[in-house]
Amino acid sequence: MTTGKINVSVENIFPLIKKFLYSDHEIFLRELVSNGTDATLKLKHLISIGEAKVEYGNPIIEIKVDKEGKKIHIIDQGLGMTADEVEKYINQVAFSGAEEFLDKYKDSAKDSGIIGHFGLGFYSAFMVAEKVEIITKSYKDEPAAHWTCDGSPEFTLEPADKTSRGTEIILHIAEDSLEFLEDSKISGLLNKYNKFMPIPIKFGTKTETLPKPENAPEDYINETVEIDNIINNPNPAWTKQPTELSDEDYKNFYRELYPMQFEEPLFNIHLNVDYPFNLTGILYFPKLGSDMQIQKDKIQLYQNQVYVTDNVEGIVPEFLTMLKGVIDSPDIPLNVSRSGLQADGAVKKISNYITRKVADKLKALFNENRADFEAKWNDIKIVLEYGMLSEDKFYEKAGAFVLYPTVDDTYFTLEELKEKLKENQTDKDGKLVILYAGNKDAQHSYIETAKDKGYEVLLLDSPIISHLIQKIEGDNSGLTFVRVDSDHIDNLIKKDENTISKLSDEEKETLKTSLEAYIPKAYSVQLEAMDSQAAPFIITQPEFMRRMKEMSQSGGGGMFGMGNMPEMYNLVVNTNSDLASNILNTEDKSTQENLVKQALDLAKLSQNLLKGEELTAFVKRSFDLIK
Ligand code: ADP
Repeated sequence: MTTGKINVSVENIFPLIKKFLYSDHEIFLRELVSNGTDATLKLKHLISIGEAKVEYGNPIIEIKVDKEGKKIHIIDQGLGMTADEVEKYINQVAFSGAEEFLDKYKDSAKDSGIIGHFGLGFYSAFMVAEKVEIITKSYKDEPAAHWTCDGSPEFTLEPADKTSRGTEIILHIAEDSLEFLEDSKISGLLNKYNKFMPIPIKFGTKTETLPKPENAPEDYINETVEIDNIINNPNPAWTKQPTELSDEDYKNFYRELYPMQFEEPLFNIHLNVDYPFNLTGILYFPKLGSDMQIQKDKIQLYQNQVYVTDNVEGIVPEFLTMLKGVIDSPDIPLNVSRSGLQADGAVKKISNYITRKVADKLKALFNENRADFEAKWNDIKIVLEYGMLSEDKFYEKAGAFVLYPTVDDTYFTLEELKEKLKENQTDKDGKLVILYAGNKDAQHSYIETAKDKGYEVLLLDSPIISHLIQKIEGDNSGLTFVRVDSDHIDNLIKKDENTISKLSDEEKETLKTSLEAYIPKAYSVQLEAMDSQAAPFIITQPEFMRRMKEMSQSGGGGMFGMGNMPEMYNLVVNTNSDLASNILNTEDKSTQENLVKQALDLAKLSQNLLKGEELTAFVKRSFDLIK
């Protein structure tokens, strides 16, 4: 038997390992199962190049929990180690690796920025164990070795009688980590970290019912057998070629990833690149609706099929963190902080690639089946609109597939829309006017007025739409977006014929004075000669002010330095309406006041602005009028 000190030149790192990353102690299992997987894959490689002359067989990795003995065993059938190799790889390589890792990160231990805490390796076993044994037999014709270390730098190394190839790690679980002896805890961890690792992982057994033989008698009772409980899928969909996979395969994989999710994904994007970096994965567009918050953190990051994290911030462009799925790349540096990631050139390339790939796929889906794309538009628009706002590369490509639906569900691309509107919808300066509504119910009467005149009205109802419109206008100087209720329609869109006013200038002055006497200060009165059929009173909210207000509310508040902006409304009065003449000609002041107030309230109702006390007063006044 050999005994020795692992490395006399260093202080005892074991207490450090224990303290380190306290909340992430569970990663020990991932690290050890990864080592077993690597050892198995290495053996496979050695056999394939003729270096190892042994049978590969069907190797698995087995996890056993011995609750009474307070032990966890991790057993692989990989290439194993000779005593010399244990000395070299465990006492030296692994140790200095762990040491280096700790040295680098001990100050940032609480900074969960180090993604998935990769790199601690074998010695992470001491996060949960007070003593660790390695019993290992190399594929080479040499005796097995038995290494023991009790969490001090002293170790023992002696021959062992193991005859089968591979390595068994035995963890003697420390008193403060006994939770890891629960089967449910271990299967939970295996499911989280090892669900798609490339070598089958066995944890316990399960009972399987055998099929009924063909000529079985009526009263035949199905036989059952105990079989290995393999917890992982060693060949997950993302490791295959897109040509090997059907739609159904993609959907099945989605169910495998999110077993509790019953809704099907809208479509998927298979990522597959090996130059200049290596990246595979499948992204899914879930049904999103308009809520941007709830869906984050659904993309899982893997490295060679080992789960790392579900926080892909900094790796995937932010607008795509609303998607679901898997990304697997050995080229994402995992032992850097989040802020370090953003500065990393390789990561930037990966992020750009994902953006481009998503844009290309959306374009293809749009071109292949536009009707289907339109049907899904409402569930994906928030991601795409957000992408247009936040990623210029995406914005450039978005013209090919981003849609602008009308209130009657006709879908245009921006180019189609421009083509359609250029005859009929321009303003005084010849700019194309895109009329839109933010809410079909609230702006119903305005939408109807515009439609009666033969105009197209879009329905743009995303919470970030004001920001997007602002950006689009900035890029298309010949284009202006106005909400249907932002001014009287004839002011928004140029008309050839001018309606003649029935009132003289003097009468208009008088009317204005009478109106202003009864109308709150928040409204500025605007007299317009419209055709007599148009509504007599209309409340409008100037586009610019409303849009700025919305933008400051939905993020970027300070950006405009406007703080809390006041509501501003215009009251547009049709001077050619009978009501206007009526108000003008009513001598009795209280009758005149009633007329104005009633008309104002009706206009407010149509803008959804009549509430509370005012609504009560309106209802009372209306009853008085009809009794
Ligand atoms: P890493 O896996 O990153 O190299 P580890 O500290 O986990 O670092 O392991 C150090 C070395 O110990 C490995 O590179 C490998 O040579 C050896 N090793 C660890 N576990 C096993 C195992 N189960 N079978 C064979 N060799 C192993």
